[in-house]
Amino acid sequence: MARRNEALVLYPTPAIGHLISMVELGKLLVTQQSSLTIHILVLDPPYNAGTTAPYISTVSATYPCIKFHQLPTITLASTTATNHETLTFEAIRLSNPNVQQALLSLSQSYTILAFVMDFFCTAALSVANELSIPGYHFFTSGAGCLCFFMYLPILHQKTSKSFRDLNTFLHIPGIPPIHSSDVPKPVLDREDKAYQYFVETFSRFPESAGIIVNTFELLENRATKAISDGSCVPSNRTPPIYCIGPLVVADDRRGGGKTSDDSMAQCFAWLDSQPSRSVVFLCFGSLGLFSRDQLREIAMGLERSGQRFLWVVRSPPSDGKSLAIIKQEDPDLDSLLPDGFLSRTSEKGFVVKTWAPQVAVLNHGSVGGFVTHCGWNSVLEAVCAGVPMVAWPQYAEQRLNKVLLVEEMKLALPMDESENGFVSAAELEKRVRGLMESEEGKLVREETTAMRDGAKAAMSKGGSSRLALAELVESWKRVGI
Ligand code: UDP
Repeated sequence: MARRNEALVLYPTPAIGHLISMVELGKLLVTQQSSLTIHILVLDPPYNAGTTAPYISTVSATYPCIKFHQLPTITLASTTATNHETLTFEAIRLSNPNVQQALLSLSQSYTILAFVMDFFCTAALSVANELSIPGYHFFTSGAGCLCFFMYLPILHQKTSKSFRDLNTFLHIPGIPPIHSSDVPKPVLDREDKAYQYFVETFSRFPESAGIIVNTFELLENRATKAISDGSCVPSNRTPPIYCIGPLVVADDRRGGGKTSDDSMAQCFAWLDSQPSRSVVFLCFGSLGLFSRDQLREIAMGLERSGQRFLWVVRSPPSDGKSLAIIKQEDPDLDSLLPDGFLSRTSEKGFVVKTWAPQVAVLNHGSVGGFVTHCGWNSVLEAVCAGVPMVAWPQYAEQRLNKVLLVEEMKLALPMDESENGFVSAAELEKRVRGLMESEEGKLVREETTAMRDGAKAAMSKGGSSRLALAELVESWKRVGI
């Protein structure tokens, strides 16, 4: 009897930082398992419809084995939520009937080996269970962050206070003590709907058939062990954990079409003319925005540091929100930055408006430091390029990532903020100079170079991540056929 075609179904959350690493998993699998077709169910972000379309059409054109299925748009009429985490959880929950429909229709033509979902999509685990399709998770942040979230249901039982009011250090297996104010932002407030969704989601994690993490063992050895030996969920079964990373997007100078070719040509021509490893790159993720005052302070700090820099500047938030969840207009640099800043720094600095092709920039030989918001993709991209960091978190789980980067991995210097998160010109000057010129900076650079080699080894034949991927595929074959 002819064998039916085999497929894997991926269900990412629509935020671009989550979508890209899940798609990278798909790409890796089709290049290594040529018989597999990858189907990706995509939901438009409930807060910014249509934003993922250009990225999806580029991937579809280059990888015919990766097929995207747009799920019907969801109306969130009844919600009062304003933060994007809650909106995402709610959109995912309401999409369950559509996910069921999609899986039923695909199963007419394919044997679905596994259904791999982002943690935001855990509501769909019930759909997979009903259809007897093994449900796996793909965790887009690191194993250290996963330790926190897997332990969250226990922390929830231990206290009745919000983390924002606790003012204490939390002791969580696998990671250094974390101050309660450094936990992921959406769980700071116990009364927030997002907090409840997170507790619910991670209470269900032990039901997963396996957890795939975009990390590698050498980078997060302690955290990985704490998850696999059950320390994070002592009273429950721990699913197998597969560290298959680092998965990062390819080095593309066009920035996925988000920047004009002209401005990028100028940017790379400028980088080409700079000395090796001399430029500090400042970029703050897909959503990071700064106030007018903070932008001026960064400018002053950079100028005083005397270091070469490449800085991605966005317009300040106009609606009081601190995230770029709706499309931002390009900034008017002359009115935002201090008088004469651009001309005084024209030899040493280059400012890019709104978006730069980060992976290509980090891999340019002139770049020697990175001031980052600590988003996990950015961290992995810096590690793969061997570029040391200054950690300046902005949102999501980035404060936790900062602690891990500075204290555990020793790949970054910390940026010290004032109470309200403001960073002074003096602090910025000190950290940028420290990274590029001090003994402390040299140590971080050496660690990062070693970790870059470790990342390469993990992804090479016989490396830990390649072995974990082979094991994962084997687990699908065992249950799926
Ligand atoms: N990125 C980029 N250029 C920018 C800002 C972001 O290429 O100007 C990319 C970056 O390389 C990374 C992703 O957007 O791949 C951001 O993901 P990350 O997890 O670091 O942060 P998030 O945006 O999810 O907070």
